[in-house]
Amino acid sequence: MSDDRSYPEVRDAVARLCTDYPDEYWRDKDHDKAYPEEFVQALTDAGYLSVLIPEEYGGAGMDLAAACAVLEEIQRSGANGAACHAQMYIMGSLLRHGSEAQKQKYLPDIASGNLRLQAFGVTEPSSGTDTTRIKTRAQRDGDDYVISGQKVFISRVEYSDLLLLLVRTTPRDEVDKPTRGMSVLLVDLREAVGNGLTVRPLETMLNHATTELFFDQLRVPAENLIGEEGKGFGYILDGMNAERILIAAECIGDARWFVDRASSYARDREVFGASIGKNQGIQFPIARAHVQTEAAALMVDKACGMFDAGLACGSEANMAKLLAADASWAAADMCLQTHGGYGFTVEYDIERKFRETRLYQVAPISTNLILSNIATHVLGLPKSF
Ligand SMILES: Cc1cc2nc3c(=O)[nH]c(=O)nc-3n(C[C@H](O)[C@H](O)[C@H](O)COP(=O)(O)OP(=O)(O)OC[C@H]3O[C@@H](n4cnc5c(N)ncnc54)[C@H](O)[C@@H]3O)c2cc1C
Repeated sequence: MSDDRSYPEVRDAVARLCTDYPDEYWRDKDHDKAYPEEFVQALTDAGYLSVLIPEEYGGAGMDLAAACAVLEEIQRSGANGAACHAQMYIMGSLLRHGSEAQKQKYLPDIASGNLRLQAFGVTEPSSGTDTTRIKTRAQRDGDDYVISGQKVFISRVEYSDLLLLLVRTTPRDEVDKPTRGMSVLLVDLREAVGNGLTVRPLETMLNHATTELFFDQLRVPAENLIGEEGKGFGYILDGMNAERILIAAECIGDARWFVDRASSYARDREVFGASIGKNQGIQFPIARAHVQTEAAALMVDKACGMFDAGLACGSEANMAKLLAADASWAAADMCLQTHGGYGFTVEYDIERKFRETRLYQVAPISTNLILSNIATHVLGLPKSF
C-alpha cells in the first residue's frame, strides 16, 4: 500500500492493537450479543477515542482526519468500531456548545477513560427521520428538567455513563419554526437508570447494543442543559457532518476488508482444477468493488479536508457517506458471492461483516434522505416534504 495515507503512524498503531482482537473475538461477541468491553478499554487506554478532545482537556487535540484514520483501520481489521465510535462525534456538541464549567467537569474524565459518553438519543418511534416531531418532553421545574417520553434504537446506553439527549422543551405548535424549541441535555445514566429511566435492550440483526428508552418523570439538573434552551436542533445538526464523515471512513475500512478477503479467497479456492480468481466472472466484481471503494475514499478525504479547514461541508459529508456506504455494501455483496456457500458460514466472518455494514444504508441517516438533501439543497429541485 502506498504511503500517501493520512496519519500512517496512527494507522499502523491501531492496526497493531487490533491484532489482539482477531476474528474469533468478534465472532464470539456477535454470537453472545456481548459488548466488546476489552477492545473498547484497550482503545481508550491507548487514547484513540479521545483524539478529537483538545489537549487542554486531556485529549490528543488532533483533527478529524486522524479520527477517520482510527475508525477506518478498526473496520479494516475486521473489528466493529460501532461499539465506541459515537464518543468521537458526540463529544463535539459538548465541546462546541457546552459551558466552560461543563467542559472542565466532563471532558478530562472522558479523555482519561473515567467517563464514557457513548450514547446519543435522538430517534423516537413515532417521529422516525422527521426529527422535529419528537415528543420526548422536558419541562423546567425549579432547578431541574423533568423528562417524559420514549426513544428507540439508542445504542450503547448500557455501556455508557452519559447520554446526550434531544428533547422538546417547547411544543412544536408553540414555536415559529419546527426546528426551534428543542434542547440538548446531558443525562448522567448512573443516576437516571431506575430513577425515571428504563432501558430495554432491542434485539437486532447485528450486535449493536441498541435499546429502547422510557422516560417517566426523570429529573435532570438544569445545569446539564447544553447551550441555550430551544436551540438544540442546531447543535445536533452541527455534529452531523463529523458523524457522517467518520461513519464514511468506517465504510471505507469495511469495503477494503471485503476486497482483501475476496481477493485472497479467490486466489486460494480451487474449483474445476483452477483458482476461481482466474475467472473474470469472479475477478471483475472484485476489481469493480476496489475501484468503487477508492473513488468513495477520495470523496471522504475531500469532505474531511473541508471539515478540518473549517469550511461548510454538509453536502460533501452527505455525498461521502452515501458513496462510502454504497461501496461497502457492494463490496459485502461481492465478497459473499465470491465465497459461495462458505460466505454464509459463521466461521468465515463474511456474513457478520455483511450484516454490520448493511446498517449504513439506514443509519445514522438513510440513503433516501441524503439523496433528498442533495436534490433540494444542491440541485435546487422542489422539496417533497
Ligand atoms: C442498529 C441501529 C442503531 C441505531 N443507533 C441509534 C442511536 O444510537 N441513536 C439514535 O438516535 N438513533 C439510532 N438509530 C436510529 C437510526 O438513526 C434510524 O433508524 C434512522 O435514522 C431511520 O429512522 P427510522 O428507522 O425511524 O426510519 P423512518 O424515518 O421510519 O424511514 C423508513 C424508510 O423510509 C425512508 N423515508 C422516510 N421518509 C422519506 C422521504 N420523505 N422520502 C423518501 N424516503 C423516506 C427512509 O429513508 C427509510 O428507508 C439506530 C438504528 C439502528 C438500526
